[in-house]
Amino acid sequence: SNTAKLQCPTCIKLGIPGSYFCSQDCFKKSWSTHKQQHKKAKGASIYDPWPDFTFSGKLRPWPVTPKRAVPDNITRPDYANDSKGTPHSELAARGTSQILVLSDEDQESLRVACKLGREVLDIGAEAVAVGVTTDEIDRLIHEATIDRDCYPSPLNYYRFPKSCCTSVNEVICHGIPDKRPLTDGDIVNIDVTVYHRGFHGDLNETLLVGNVDDVTKKLVGVTWDCLDYAMQAVKPGMRYRDIGAIIQKHAQANGFSVVRSYCGHGIHRLFHTAPNVPHYAKNKAVGVMKAGHSFTIEPMISEGVWRDMVWPDNWTAVTQDGRRSAQFEHTLLVTDTGVDILTQRPGTSRPHFMDQLG
Ligand SMILES: [Zn+2]
Ligand SMILES: [Zn+2]
Repeated sequence: SNTAKLQCPTCIKLGIPGSYFCSQDCFKKSWSTHKQQHKKAKGASIYDPWPDFTFSGKLRPWPVTPKRAVPDNITRPDYANDSKGTPHSELAARGTSQILVLSDEDQESLRVACKLGREVLDIGAEAVAVGVTTDEIDRLIHEATIDRDCYPSPLNYYRFPKSCCTSVNEVICHGIPDKRPLTDGDIVNIDVTVYHRGFHGDLNETLLVGNVDDVTKKLVGVTWDCLDYAMQAVKPGMRYRDIGAIIQKHAQANGFSVVRSYCGHGIHRLFHTAPNVPHYAKNKAVGVMKAGHSFTIEPMISEGVWRDMVWPDNWTAVTQDGRRSAQFEHTLLVTDTGVDILTQRPGTSRPHFMDQLG
């Protein structure tokens, strides 16, 4: 038999002892398992669920912990106990572009859900730091949600496995919380939706982890301003299709791009419903704002290309060029004179880094 005297060059470089191969061919054959040694030596995750998938950036999936339980006494949406996570009530409303005008009583219920959603997001945001895993953030959010007699809306929605979305760096949206510790220089978006006594309240924010570079800070700041400018335009008579132009103008003026695959949405008893609210210009969205409409605006702004791709988990949406993307979201209610930001931050929220800069 062959004597194994060929050594892996990466192992030599990383100082991993004792990895010898009998031939070039033997080395090639064992590559998929052997490369785990390199990851291990570099302290990276050795979890590699999709060995044939080409990632667009540096982020990788880490193991996901089991689905967390929700006490039986908490009111759930219809998809919560469905084996496929199908939101039957949403599907029944699909196809109509009719936008519901909420009664005063429904507006009050939505307001309560949104206020609780804000409290929950703030608890998650407070925990963001170098070394904290997104799974730990998910755990805090899950506990805070059920403590407030709410169901975490993302949980089991089309079988989404966790109680919130955490989207790191090149992840545009729908990142699954996992065992990856946040790293100095990361950005992370936390997207929280809570379901309280029949109504969903939805919001998200992008947070900085440790020392973040200036381009990324600009990206996050511009993304916040995109949402802010769009919200300022909300009032009765405004067309939903005109929101996108406001956002795209500001993003492009700063050299960034607007994600097109994911939009704002109507929200009340249903998690996602009419209207559809694209964030890009020259869209064909249907509908005119009226007092009593409730919907989100949630622009996703990217450093490089606007195009997205989805990881093989069928959730994690990333930029096609692997560069970063940021997002902010509020749930809004159209009033007689303008807009009420139902997920508004109270004075106790962790300050935006933009505010800290003054
Ligand atoms: Zn959201
Ligand atoms: Zn949303």
